[in-house]
Amino acid sequence: MPQPKACPVVPTGSALRPIAIDDVSLAPGFWGGRQSRNSENTIGHCLSWARKAGWLANFAASVDGTLPAARRGREFSDADVYKVAEAMAWEVGRTANERLDKELLDLGELLTAAQHSDGYLNTRFEAARYSDLEWGHELYCYGHLIQAGVARLRTAGEDDLTGVAVRAADHVCAEFGPDGRVGVCGHPEIEMALVELYRATGQRRYLDQARLFVDRRGLRTLADIEFGRRYFQDDVPVRHTDVLHGHAVRALYLACGAVDVAVETGDDELLSAVVRQWEHTVASRTYITGGMGSRHQDEAFGEAFELPPDRAYAETCAAIASVMLSWRLLLATGEARFADLIERTLYNAIAVSPDERGTSFFYSNTLHQRRPPDVAEPDAESPRAATGMRAPWYEVSCCPTNISRMFASLGGYIATADSDGVQLHQFAAAEIHTDVADLHVHTTYPWDGEVVVHVLRTVSREWTLSVRIPAWAAGATLHADSTHTVSPGYAKVRRQWLAGDRIVVHLPMTPRWTRPDPRIDAVRGCVAVERGPMIYCLESVDQAGADLDTMTVLTTQAPEPSGEFRLTAPARWSRLPDRPWPYGEADSLEGLSTSAVFVPYHMWGNRGPGTMRVFVPEHPLQYRSR
Ligand SMILES: [Zn+2]
Repeated sequence: MPQPKACPVVPTGSALRPIAIDDVSLAPGFWGGRQSRNSENTIGHCLSWARKAGWLANFAASVDGTLPAARRGREFSDADVYKVAEAMAWEVGRTANERLDKELLDLGELLTAAQHSDGYLNTRFEAARYSDLEWGHELYCYGHLIQAGVARLRTAGEDDLTGVAVRAADHVCAEFGPDGRVGVCGHPEIEMALVELYRATGQRRYLDQARLFVDRRGLRTLADIEFGRRYFQDDVPVRHTDVLHGHAVRALYLACGAVDVAVETGDDELLSAVVRQWEHTVASRTYITGGMGSRHQDEAFGEAFELPPDRAYAETCAAIASVMLSWRLLLATGEARFADLIERTLYNAIAVSPDERGTSFFYSNTLHQRRPPDVAEPDAESPRAATGMRAPWYEVSCCPTNISRMFASLGGYIATADSDGVQLHQFAAAEIHTDVADLHVHTTYPWDGEVVVHVLRTVSREWTLSVRIPAWAAGATLHADSTHTVSPGYAKVRRQWLAGDRIVVHLPMTPRWTRPDPRIDAVRGCVAVERGPMIYCLESVDQAGADLDTMTVLTTQAPEPSGEFRLTAPARWSRLPDRPWPYGEADSLEGLSTSAVFVPYHMWGNRGPGTMRVFVPEHPLQYRSR
């Protein structure tokens, strides 16, 4: 059976087959609403900021010969123009938006004019090509250009943009191939882009070049830097690495490329190495929100269990990259654990980033805001890692453009097919069209745990409908002919389906207290609240004056629903005097009774600046009183 085309990741052979983004229409609901907002607001917002910040004009300046004097933005700003272009390509493919299509054609013309005759294209390094592989990001930028080109190729066919992408890829193969420069980019990204271009064009040289880059990584071709070679994963070869380390986005993008290379070359050793890295990273270096990379200093993974909630960097791009990695592993293996992590990450670490209009974004995603954050200037670029509110744009604005391309292609991450049937991995109101059947999924998940799958059309032979039961959903039931309990993993119903058939899955949405591994010292003795796939948090605005810094919760019973989104639990808090020295003998914290009000973490910060925390100490708590 041929692979579909209009998807970000299309392996030539894999356990599961992706479904094209134009074959999955998200209906109004949690994700459908976010995709519409992305379409209506976020993509245009990113485009207008790329103009306003001068990042688009850099290409025109290249054509006019006024670089480097006229250049604006950081060395990697070309990449954000390409990421918006990728978002536009998916959006045009999904909705046939004529205005975006015209903008994309214009951009393709501009890039064609800016590209050098040998395929080189970068507005920062024209005069000193590849003089700074550690920090220059030239190959990283090509990676995003190529991904935009592949998106366009798969949704519209060849045009100027795809031509620019192919010439850039050919240039990379000539420049960095077996007889060329022995180097890799300080920021991985081109690896997965080249594999995808191979998949889209059938040209083997792109796959070979990607494999060369993956194999070269870890051979210390990059210079040592202040953060060490670990920062760009050039310390140990990928296949000998046990856990993701260094700069989180770089590590995750590299792992994506390694999976792609492994899948296309049948390299089981490399695939196993990445699965092992994923396991160790999930087991000890991932926040409860799915966020990855705790360190602000070098945007890096911390050591095992180094997951402080108040110093969580947890960059939005790392969460997106984590979904990209788990998606590749899910396609390669068909294992539910990868879809489980995608769900956790989507509903928490990613959904929290954009505001309710989709025009301002968190870059880093803390789990504990100790003071009300600064409000971002609406018309200015914000410093990226500020502990501020969501901002419309950043000096380094990788996250908003990453959100825009992921949400535009989000339908592609919901379900898959294989020779035996259809697999539903994520619960979203949607219509799904496949070779074997058309399905309608009706649900208001995650606000309710009922998911109805309706068969609209089917082939006249037996096939299997598989529905992922999340790891948290013990006690879930499935009703086909009769109702029975189903275990986490994939619940499978095989039969000769008829149009009009339906199954109903019930996932238990009872709120639950969750306790961290005690080795995560920063939150030892604390609990968090989860309900379905959502993590909850306390925001100061809801606590009727009670102080989040001293609040402790009583966990003898589960938090109770109160209103549409809220949960409450009995709690205590105290008015603590400021003292000259905060250490000494312990005493018990008693204090005032109150009701702790929890709201979904992804909603936090939408009601003005306040404090917030995900983990709360369990009552009674010991503290220094004298
Ligand atoms: Zn980012």
